Amino acid sequence: MSTTHPSRPVPKTFPCVRCGLTVTASGPDGTPRNHCPSCLHSLHVLDAVEGGPSECRSRMAPISIAVLRTGDWMVIHRCARCGELTSNPICPDDNQLILMRMAVRPLAQPPFPLEAFGGL
Ligand SMILES: [Zn+2]
Ligand SMILES: [Zn+2]
Repeated sequence: MSTTHPSRPVPKTFPCVRCGLTVTASGPDGTPRNHCPSCLHSLHVLDAVEGGPSECRSRMAPISIAVLRTGDWMVIHRCARCGELTSNPICPDDNQLILMRMAVRPLAQPPFPLEAFGGL
C-alpha cells in the first residue's frame, strides 16, 4: 500500500507539532533535521535507547543548548510525555532568537547569588 520508493528518495516534509509550519526533513545544507526552524519544537519519533522508531510520538520542546568540542551547537529536546532527552545539531536557518535565549537563560537565572564573585 506504500507509495514510497526507497531507491528514489523525495524531499520529505512534516508539519510542525506546535506552529503547523511545513518543515522539510533536511536543512539547506542537506543535514537531516527533525525540528521546526521557527519554534524549534520536535516530535518524539525515535527511540534514543533502542535507536528504532518510538511509540511515543509526543511533542518535544527545546529546553537547552549544548556546545560540542568541535564548536557545533546542539539543541536539547525533552519529550512532554515521557521526559526523554535528545540532542540534535542545529540548522543554519533555525530561529536564532530562540537559540540565543536558551543559551543565556542559565546566566540570566543563576541558582546561586552572583555577589559571590564580587570578591574575586
Ligand atoms: Zn514550529
Ligand atoms: Zn516521549
